Parts: sequence; structure tokens; C-alpha cells
Amino acid sequence: MCGIVGYVGQKQAAPLLLDGLKRLEYRGYDSGGLAVHTADGIAYRKRMGRLTELEKALGREPIAGRPGIGHTRWATHGEPSERNSHPHLDGSGRIAVVHNGIIENYQTLRDELTAAGHTFVSETDTEVIPHLIEEALKQGAPDFEAAIRTALKQARGAYALGILFQDQPDTVYAARLGSPLIVGLGQDEYFIASDVPAIVNHIDRVIYLNDGELAVLNPEGVRLQNLDGETVTGEIKPVEIAPEAAEMAGFETFMLKEIHEQPRVLRSLIAQHSKDDQVALPDLNFEDAYFSNLQRIMIVSCGTAYHAAMYGQFLIEHLTNLAVETDLGSEFRYRSPRIEPDTLFVAVSQSGETADTLASLRLAREKNCKILSICNVPGSSLVRESDAVLFTNAGPEIGVASTKAYTAQLMSFALLGIHIGRARNEISAEHARELIQSLEAIPDAIHYVLERAEQIREIADKHHDGPSALYLGRRFNYPTALEGALKNKEISYQHAEGYAAGEMKHGPIALINEYLPVI
Ligand code: GLU
Repeated sequence: MCGIVGYVGQKQAAPLLLDGLKRLEYRGYDSGGLAVHTADGIAYRKRMGRLTELEKALGREPIAGRPGIGHTRWATHGEPSERNSHPHLDGSGRIAVVHNGIIENYQTLRDELTAAGHTFVSETDTEVIPHLIEEALKQGAPDFEAAIRTALKQARGAYALGILFQDQPDTVYAARLGSPLIVGLGQDEYFIASDVPAIVNHIDRVIYLNDGELAVLNPEGVRLQNLDGETVTGEIKPVEIAPEAAEMAGFETFMLKEIHEQPRVLRSLIAQHSKDDQVALPDLNFEDAYFSNLQRIMIVSCGTAYHAAMYGQFLIEHLTNLAVETDLGSEFRYRSPRIEPDTLFVAVSQSGETADTLASLRLAREKNCKILSICNVPGSSLVRESDAVLFTNAGPEIGVASTKAYTAQLMSFALLGIHIGRARNEISAEHARELIQSLEAIPDAIHYVLERAEQIREIADKHHDGPSALYLGRRFNYPTALEGALKNKEISYQHAEGYAAGEMKHGPIALINEYLPVI
């Protein structure tokens, strides 16, 4: 799942789209493309590889016009190639579509459309969307909106879409189901994007589209509707990210910048959530009595957030005498988990858009559990679907590897654990005070480590091209070991494994030799 940007306004679309896509580059992609409405109809360019290739192509053959839609692709269906890059067009070349996500029933739809005379030129799942819209128009859909609704009612899976019609030169359509998409409002100009940082320098208000919503952007403004064509009122929120937050601020990479932001983020997180040396979570609208009667907690998350959840489990068990379980969202939703209604379901996700975590949350919702999320992004799906939210307030996470957002999740769990421990009277006020004071020492401890960056770089230089690395830890440091190994793999492309320290003697110790770094 990669990036989408769309523009409606008086300026030239192509440079704005390219700039927005560049701001999403951190998400990784294999190709880029854009489609713009020109005096001669829809024009598009697509290029494999870096966006600089697309930029060069636009330099050689510029596209003048507006509005437009742009895309960076992370291939799921069909190899990374120019042919499979977005935008994709219908048979007449009058409908252009960019898509993030997966159309799960694309093969059936493609077979049906082929039988109806449509010809496909790519291997993607996406290409069925423009053809479905074309077919709906052919079958008499009264207008473009109705044709999109008819098409989307047939698609299963996940999508964020930007759509442009040759015969409607001032409008961009956007729709979402399961993949994030926002509408940005600026001064007499409107944007769509898969994430706020893409367009943060142009907008001051934002609408987070809900699943099943279709947005129509034209010079008159933005209208929302559901797939039955009923008008929906979107909630307009101020943009809470300062444009500078999406810049590198002199660091070599966003990852490095975000690593260095940790002391500040954690310090302010503690300050926001404590008062007189006690935890204060005023936004957590659960009564203390709710926690005293609680039987169990189920924490579900994915990736890095899962490691934060394991730490949360160990800590909450330790401080509250509650039964706490953790599971991966990508497993939980496919199991037949027994979920009692008196369980507090905790979902953890930096973005608040992790599909497996959201699907798990909805399962818990069906069982009438109360839902608490730990999340970094206001307005995200997770936040909107929870009964209460602990915001990690780490600021935008742009670096690919989660750093400050992860440590902010750990800190949030620590604060939550102390809060529940106090509510259940499992820890004394004095004990809570000591715990908070030790949390307050953490930002300085991180600072101490960061001051030794050069030394850390030397150690990394020595080991980064070895065959593997092993990370060990026990108890609270067991999830840290797992997270360390994940970071190692993600960032250096070197194999690494995280292990519970006490388990080494049951076999893996055989791997230890003088070449294997053990952390
Ligand atoms: N499934 C689509 C494709 O493979 C979209 C992938 C994406 O989200 O970038 O082209």
C-alpha cells in the first residue's frame, strides 16, 4: 500500500502532485505516475523506479493542466513495471484511476468484464475499477458519481481511490474502504492524500474519510456521500501537524530525526499524563470502578506495536493483578478467539489504520467489549472506533522504522499500567510516585545514549555486513530483543533474530560462534 495525492484548484497540478508524492517517498514504492486534465483531455506519465525518473519524464514532456491525481505504487498484483503502474484507464481512455489497496475479487470481475468486451492491458487488480465505472456508464448510470457507486458496490477488499474523468474537467473523486485517505482543504484549493504530510504545506483543514464514503472535489468545494448516494457530513478538523514537522530539520534521514526526538516526546507525554507525581488520564473516560471490576485485558496489534503490547502485558500483569493476553492482529482475526464481554480490548497502532488491528477491534466490538486504543494519529479509523484513546502524541512518523512512536507506546503502557494498578488498589500512591519518578528519568537516559551516537555507529560498522545478529532479553527486555531484531532486519536488510534469553540453551546456542554478534 503506497501513496496517493490529488489536486483541485487553479495551479498547475503536475508539480504539486510530484511534490506531494515525494513527501510520501519514505513509505517505499516501486514506481510512480500521475494523470492530469489538459486542454486535450487526460494526459498521464508513469515511470518505474524513483520519482526522479517521473520528474525527468515530466521535464522532457511536461503536462500542463489541472486537476490531477498522482500515485506511488507498491505492487501487490502484477510485477513492478511501467505497464502495471498507476494511473490505470478504462477502455476509452477517458477515466483515470489511482488506487492503494487490494481488490480481492478482481479476477471474477475481470472475467465478467472481459466477457462483456473489455480489454485489459495490465496485470493489476486496480484496472477493473476504471472498467467497472465505464461499464456502469454504458449501462445507463445517470452521472459519474452514480457510476462510481455502482462500480464500488461490486468491489471487495480494500481501496483508497482517486478518479479523474475526461468529460468532467474540474473534478476529482475520492473513495475509501479499509485504506486511509484524507481530503485536505486549503485556500480555494482542495487535495486528497493517503497521509497528511503529503499536503501539509498547502492545507489548514482536513476531513478523514470514513470507510464507504465517496468525496467529490471541485472548485465549489467538497461534498461527501455514501455508496447509496446519501449525503454525508464530514467532520472538518484543523491540521494539527506543523509543516516543519514533516521536514528533516537538518538530519540526514527522517529516522535519525525521529530517534533524536524521543527525549522530547517522552518528556511531554509524561507531563501531559501526570499530576502531583500521580498518573492523570483525564481523557480516559472509564470510572475507577470499571477497572476494579475488570476481569481481563486483551491487547491486539501488529509489528512494532505488538512488541510494545508484549511489554504492556508484562507490565500490566505486574502492576494490576489482571489476566492480560496479547495477540497479533493478523492472527487474532483469523482465529476463533473466545472474547468475554467483560474484557477490556486494547488496540495499539501508530497510524490507527492497521487493517488487521482494525478488523480485530471490530470482532471485539461485536462481543460488546469496551475498546481502548493507544494511537498516534488523531482522526484515524482506530481512534474513531474506540471508546477511549491514549494518544502517544509523538508527532508525525515519517521514517520507515518506528522509533519515537514505539517508545511513546511503551511509555503509554507504563502510564496505563500505573493508572489501572492504582484504580484497583494493587499499588500504593507511594509506589506509583516512585514509578513515575523513574519514568521521568528516562528521557535523560535516552539523551545519554544518543550522545554516544558515534560510538554506536562504530559498533554498527563492524557488524552490519555479517550474516546475522542475535538479540536476547528476558521479561521486559524480551520484547525489546524482538523489536531490536525487527529493526535490524528492516533497516540493514541483514537477518536477525530476537529470542527469550532463557531459551537459548534449548537449541539455538548451537548457532553461536565468533562471527555472530549477540546483543
Ligand atoms: N493493488 C494495486 C497494485 O498492485 C495497488 C498497490 C498499491 O497500493 O500501491 O497495483
